[in-house]
Amino acid sequence: MPDFSIGVDLGGTNLRIAAVTGQGELLEKVTLGTKVALGRDHVIDEMCDAIQRLSGRYKEAGKFLGAGIGVPGLIDLRTGVMRKAANLPGWENYPARAEIERRLGLPQNDARVVLENDARVAALGEQWLGAARGVANMAVLTLGTGIGGGIVLGGKIWHGMNGMAGEFGHVTIEPEGHPCGCGNRGCSEQYASASAIVRMAREAIASGQAQSLAQAASSEAEFGAKAIYNLATEGDEHARRIFASFGRYLGILLAGLINVLNLEMYVIGGGVSSAWDAFAPRMFEELRERSLVYAATALTVPLRSDSSGKKDPPAAEAESGSERKTIVTPAVLGSDAGLYGAARVAVLAG
Ligand SMILES: [Zn+2]
Repeated sequence: MPDFSIGVDLGGTNLRIAAVTGQGELLEKVTLGTKVALGRDHVIDEMCDAIQRLSGRYKEAGKFLGAGIGVPGLIDLRTGVMRKAANLPGWENYPARAEIERRLGLPQNDARVVLENDARVAALGEQWLGAARGVANMAVLTLGTGIGGGIVLGGKIWHGMNGMAGEFGHVTIEPEGHPCGCGNRGCSEQYASASAIVRMAREAIASGQAQSLAQAASSEAEFGAKAIYNLATEGDEHARRIFASFGRYLGILLAGLINVLNLEMYVIGGGVSSAWDAFAPRMFEELRERSLVYAATALTVPLRSDSSGKKDPPAAEAESGSERKTIVTPAVLGSDAGLYGAARVAVLAG
């Protein structure tokens, strides 16, 4: 049995924990019905119990390398203290890493606890075992309620000066655009996230033009991006326009990233990435028009996953040409990216 680490995904609603070998083989995955709303101490109790249970079960056979915890917030990497935690009441400025290590009796034999932003660990997960397996330099954009991001260079998360690199969701793409929670206006997550899709739909409904959207909004208890996507695939003009607009804005954001970073691969993850066929054509169009780097390095046929979920291995295809190509492709690991990436940060930190 090989050495292993534990990855924790501390989401806004529940807690998932996995034991993963150093080679990326999943040993065991548990989802705890932990109510994050019950508070910090309750979450830490259950998390530490589960880490101890899992590490105990496998440590006869392999060395426990540590635990990585992906959290929704900004972390001071030096101290392991969360500086911003909008969806985790009580975690801000609380010495989470020190407390979790104390309860687990770590550090011990180089095993320790690492706290890391959830979007950064998801990026590392896709790089290690997902769409960008074997690609050393890449970025992930996670399109959900907002936009999360992570940059991986040489197989490691690029943190920037103090862990804040990768805030793609707060890049300005409309100078006088919608106000954002961060204090800026026109941030990309106001235009290329699940919430943005719903807002655009509500705007279309308010204009009195989009009957089909209005009908869907009144009949569905939870009117969300999925319902609007379903309308788009049925050919509804208003829904299609929303995804085209989404693709355009995502393309504007990506064009800037590609020009600046010139990475091998950009992986699009998060719930909205499953609407790939609805927004990707417009996104690629925008990339070709706006990014000289993309235009010079694009594949002739943009990659896309087919409905069976099978995909060309993008890295292999990119290497096969005489020149290396810029790949923009959907994520493949779904929410497990964060779990694998969290397990991986524990190993890289050792
Ligand atoms: Zn913002």
